[in-house]
Amino acid sequence: MARPREKELVSFPGENAVNDATHPENRCPRCGHKLDRASGVNSGSAPATGDLSVCIQCGELLIFLEDLRIRSLSPAEFEELEIETKALLVKTQLVMRAARRTFGRN
Ligand SMILES: [Zn+2]
Repeated sequence: MARPREKELVSFPGENAVNDATHPENRCPRCGHKLDRASGVNSGSAPATGDLSVCIQCGELLIFLEDLRIRSLSPAEFEELEIETKALLVKTQLVMRAARRTFGRN
């Protein structure tokens, strides 16, 4: 089972973003949005097993598995994260929500 790698948080910037990394196509387990690209929040690295992520469409907290597939982060896993990681995840969700309001993503 993949364990969170807290120092390598990544997020999905969308389908037309630049300077991002592609990975196998996933569907968000919550909203079904297609996710196949990511960019680093803490680093510019491509996603790896255990990296945390946020669905750009609905804000679901995600974790990359061994084959770069994704699943939702469980509430228990979230609780075990360090406070700085929790804050960064929530901040990322808020930034994405604000961007959707500004740029009309639904
Ligand atoms: Zn989603």
